[in-house]
Amino acid sequence: MSIGGTLSQQTTELLQELIRNAAVNDGTPGSGHEHLQVRTLQRFFEGSGLEGVVVEPHPGRQSLIVRIEGTDPTAPSLALVGHTDVVPVEPSGWSRDPFAGEIVDGVLWGRGAIDMLNLTAAYAVVTRAIATDRFRPRGDLIFAAVADEENGSRFGVGWLTEHRLDLIDADCVLTESGGAHAGAQPHLGVMVGEKGGAGRLLRVTGAPGHGSAPWGSRNAAVIAAEAVTRLARHRGTTVITPQWRAYAEALDLDPDTRTALTDPDRFYEGLPHLGTLDGFAHASTHTTISPTIVRAGEKGNVIPGTATVQLDIRILPDVTREDVEGLIRDALGDLIEHIEIEGDWFGESTASPIDTPLFAALGSAVRRAYPSAELLPMLGVGGTDGRFYRRRGIPAYGFGVLSERWDYGTFRRLFHGNDERIDLDSIALTVDALDHAVRTFHADTSTATRTRAPEEATV
Ligand SMILES: [Zn+2]
Repeated sequence: MSIGGTLSQQTTELLQELIRNAAVNDGTPGSGHEHLQVRTLQRFFEGSGLEGVVVEPHPGRQSLIVRIEGTDPTAPSLALVGHTDVVPVEPSGWSRDPFAGEIVDGVLWGRGAIDMLNLTAAYAVVTRAIATDRFRPRGDLIFAAVADEENGSRFGVGWLTEHRLDLIDADCVLTESGGAHAGAQPHLGVMVGEKGGAGRLLRVTGAPGHGSAPWGSRNAAVIAAEAVTRLARHRGTTVITPQWRAYAEALDLDPDTRTALTDPDRFYEGLPHLGTLDGFAHASTHTTISPTIVRAGEKGNVIPGTATVQLDIRILPDVTREDVEGLIRDALGDLIEHIEIEGDWFGESTASPIDTPLFAALGSAVRRAYPSAELLPMLGVGGTDGRFYRRRGIPAYGFGVLSERWDYGTFRRLFHGNDERIDLDSIALTVDALDHAVRTFHADTSTATRTRAPEEATV
């Protein structure tokens, strides 16, 4: 890996290495292997004077935190928080090797290309650039390359928040994801918040019997299947959040579709007109329930007497535990007589204000590439490490800048999907915008000078 070249060349090469390390987090403590990512990043920082601190809450589950001290201890600090783990792949669904980091026709392929090794690489490149040129940030700049985001951050930001908050604490934060376009008058998405989550287990009780005589039996697998079907069909309440309304208004839609999509009573009329954005639109306006793990049966000739169904529940702002319970009961109807709802895990939705100096710096960074662009504050429908900060009242934004080829529907389908990839233009746009945003935010008017090569701004 060369350290020379433009910021975009450095980011591209570092991203290729991070993809090739295959830091796959399958949810087991022994997976992830983020120590490989830490080793790559340490090599990248060699010669910059930045050392960093490595934590390892579980063997192999390393995170690296690097800090550049600001010139003014009272100035606000900024943390760039990038996870280094990726989710597993189904290799048969890929057109290319998911861990080769190949570049074909200006597109870099591989697991993690958009979630979120691209951003983690860009954060590292910006941090190194700032450490090695004449710019001195006014407040501290922290780069945190963290483990285990893809499984709830138990060995990453979750652990750091509990045990080493001193390392990662900051006054504001940038993390995944953002930068996709909406509408012809360009609006670039910034994730200012995200839905919350709840996990529940349905325990189904039937009666065991002989597989040879199904008539009249109370087969727990059949009851569980009916429960899954009812949950999938249940519509629940449509909620038009301010973020969804702004998003729908930014899209190029015919007026009637737009009206439908911002009216809770007509929402489902508009949904079929949204193309690849339909899943996002639905998740943005509903507390959703996905049955994810269904288990029943032990033996091929025995009707199962018990079954379990695990539910992944994502909640909108202001939804309570009781609302979640009510939603499940509404969907299940009379099946509830066979079913216990277990578990009480609940994490609220989080959102950051946008009247902050950092948000303003993001706007000016985006307008370097798209002079008439507006930022579009969005509510993410999945989870990110931003929630650990927002819950403590710290603004955290998901930020990037993508090229025009990306609408949010396309972008989202590649998250955790087959053929994950990013175009090199988007890598260049993102690292340039991040570099500019960090320097703007941390500018000390007495010493600020901008020394970046101008060609980065023109891609
Ligand atoms: Zn991610």
